[in-house]
Amino acid sequence: NTRIVLASRPEGAPTPADFRIEHAPLPTPRNGQVLLRNRWLSLDPYMRGRMNAGRSYAAPVELGEVMDGGTVSEVVQSLHPAWSPGDLVLAHAGWQTHAVVDGESLRRKLDPAGLPVQTALGVHGMPGFTAYAGLREIGKPQHGETVVVAAASGPVGATVGQIAKLQGARVVGIAGGPDKVSHVRDDLGFDVALDHRADDFAGRLAAACPDGIDVYFENVGGAVFDAVLPLLNDFARIPVCGLVAHYNDTAPRNGPDRVPQLMSLILTRHLTVRGFIQRDFIALYPEFVREMGQWLREGRIRYREDVVEGLVHAPEAFIGMLTGGNFGKLLVKIGD
Ligand code: NDP
Repeated sequence: NTRIVLASRPEGAPTPADFRIEHAPLPTPRNGQVLLRNRWLSLDPYMRGRMNAGRSYAAPVELGEVMDGGTVSEVVQSLHPAWSPGDLVLAHAGWQTHAVVDGESLRRKLDPAGLPVQTALGVHGMPGFTAYAGLREIGKPQHGETVVVAAASGPVGATVGQIAKLQGARVVGIAGGPDKVSHVRDDLGFDVALDHRADDFAGRLAAACPDGIDVYFENVGGAVFDAVLPLLNDFARIPVCGLVAHYNDTAPRNGPDRVPQLMSLILTRHLTVRGFIQRDFIALYPEFVREMGQWLREGRIRYREDVVEGLVHAPEAFIGMLTGGNFGKLLVKIGD
C-alpha cells in the first residue's frame, strides 16, 4: 500500500514537504469491512482546512495520518454482505492506493456502463451536489435574475452557472486567465465571463451586471467579493460556499475595520447571507443523483476534468489548485 500522509502543518501555502509518501503492507479487513483498491482520488479545496489544527466543521487530519479524500474504488475483498469483489464504489478512502473501510461507510455503487465513474467525484458527486443544493436551498435564482459565481471553471462554479441558466437566470462567471474565461463562456454557455486578474475587474463586473446582482454564489472571497458587494440588489441571496482566496491566510489582512459597513449593507439591502456545508442538505442527495444524471446524459450540463496521473503527484496538484493551477475538476488517476 502506497499512501501520502500529513508530515507537517503548513504555515500559509502548503509545500511538498508538508506531505510524506509511505509504503506499508496491505491492510486486512475484519468482519463488516472491505478492502478497496483506489482508482481515482478527488482533490478538493476543503483539504487545506483539514491540514490545520483546531476546530472546523470537520476534524483535522492528524500528523502522520493519511490525507483525507473521496475516491472511486474497487472492492477487492469483502466481509460485508452488501459488497462483492469487483464492485466499483464511491468511498472516502484517502490519498492511498488501498484502504480497509467499514462496508457501511461506502456511499454508493457505481455503474461502469453508465456515466464515467470519476464523475461521482465531481459534477455527479460532492462538488456538483454543493452547487445543486446551495442554489436550490439558498440562492433560489428566479427567471431573468442575475447570478454571479467565481471559480467558474471548477466543478462547483461551473455547475452553479449551468443550473442557474437552466432555471432561466442570466449568469456571469469569473475565472482566472483567458483560457478559463473562454471555456466558461463558449463551452459552458455562461452569458458573460470575466477574468478576476484583469485591470479594472470591478468596473468590468459592474458593466456586466447592469441590473445589479440577485444571487452571488460565494466560492472565493477576496477581491471578487469586494467587487460584488456594491452591486448587490435588495433581497439578494449569498450562499457562502467557500473562501478559497483565504485558505492560505495566516492572519487577518491589514486595513480598516469594514465589519460595520458590511453589516449595514446586509441590513439596508435586506441581504440573505447563509453559510452551508453540502451535507446540511443531504436529504436532497438521491434527487440530485437522479436529476443530475439525466442532465448529464442529455448533455444539458457539461463538465471538464483535470486529470493527474499517479498518486505521487497529488501534493503538487493540490497545492496548485489553491491558486488556480487546475483547469476543471482536479482528479488523480491512481491506476487501472
Ligand atoms: P476549483 O476546482 O474551482 O478550485 C479552486 C479555484 O479557486 C481555483 O481553480 C481558482 O480558479 C479559484 N481561486 C483561487 N484563488 C482565487 C482568488 N484569490 N480569487 C478568485 N478565484 C480564486 O474548486 P471547487 O469547485 O472544488 O470548489 C470551489 C469552492 O467551493 C471552494 O471554495 C471550496 O472550498 C468550496 N466548496 C464548498 C463546499 C461546501 O459544502 N460548502 C463543498 C465543496 C466545495 P481561477 O483560476 O478561476 O481563479
